[in-house]
Amino acid sequence: MEWIELDGSRGEGGGQILRTALSLSMITGIPFAIERIRAGRKKPGLLRQHLTAVQAAAVVCGAQVEGAAPGSQRLRFQPGPIRGGDYAFAIGSAGSSTLVLQTVLPALWFADGPSTLRVSGGTHNPAAPPADFLIRCWQPLLRRMGVTLDIQLLRHGFYPAGGGEVLASTAPVTAWQPLQLEARGELRRTRAIGVVSGVPVDVAKREMQRAASSLGALDEELRVLPSNEGPGNVLMVVLEYPELTELFSTCGERGLSGEAVADRAAREARRFRDSGAAVGEYLADQLLLPMALAGQGSFTTPALSSHLGTNCLVIEKFLSVRHVFEESDGVVRVSLA
Ligand code: ATP
Repeated sequence: MEWIELDGSRGEGGGQILRTALSLSMITGIPFAIERIRAGRKKPGLLRQHLTAVQAAAVVCGAQVEGAAPGSQRLRFQPGPIRGGDYAFAIGSAGSSTLVLQTVLPALWFADGPSTLRVSGGTHNPAAPPADFLIRCWQPLLRRMGVTLDIQLLRHGFYPAGGGEVLASTAPVTAWQPLQLEARGELRRTRAIGVVSGVPVDVAKREMQRAASSLGALDEELRVLPSNEGPGNVLMVVLEYPELTELFSTCGERGLSGEAVADRAAREARRFRDSGAAVGEYLADQLLLPMALAGQGSFTTPALSSHLGTNCLVIEKFLSVRHVFEESDGVVRVSLA
């Protein structure tokens, strides 16, 4: 069979090129070779999160793999048949467990039976979807597309300690439903969720108050975790619309005040709220793969992000789909030709 050749430095030049290729290689049975993995990043090559995604994918479909080593910038992946079952993978650092989950889950929708998937590592990381995002935003849309999916956050994990855990149950998809998300409807509820572990509770309270001063009246939800789940802090702003829920988050960092944490999350939430788009920037690139698997669908998003464009190119290498982008009234409509 012909191999697909990928250049990991193209477009966004990050880990998503690899993760999308792994998912689609498992699903289509097409082997791929990738060079210059994460060449666009400060520390290029496979980090623990990416390596775990490769190893997990290899286990799930009995793949033959070359180049799966820390720091490797080249990989060859030859998949076998996808087997359903009960799987557990440990990243062994605070690398994002949700990104590993998102790599393997699509393959399990094409397995020979139901599966459970447990991944340990970080659950609330900068530059990755927090577990709450998968549960509140991504999962409901997948269910609408015909996917059986139940994701649970068993234990929080923050950088640098990690130690969090997510668990997903899923099953093969029998009938895909196209997703049409062109409008989100009127905002029903705004919520701020302040999470602290081993960090003063006052930090989360201040973050939520600050978010309220920027976004207007909102419901506050304080989540105080046992200190052995941290240390860590995250502020999540949740916008609930009839058609979907969006979530914007910022993780606390040493040297970043609670006010600055809140301002970042609130700024992103406000930008989305003020736009006329149905789907935010992050959710948009995470919906592309399921939409392509369904073979139909469309959504509107505020802008064509580099993650979105790059992911489209990788998907089009494996599947005979073409993405169409149309810009009007300040939003981009993404659909399949
Ligand atoms: P690297 O960029 O170091 O290679 P990576 O493997 O984490 O890292 P990216 O290619 O940058 O991968 O992909 C990150 C993914 O995380 C994208 O799908 C993006 O939509 C998602 N993401 C990033 N930040 C958020 C956020 N705040 N909320 C939800 N999703 C997010």
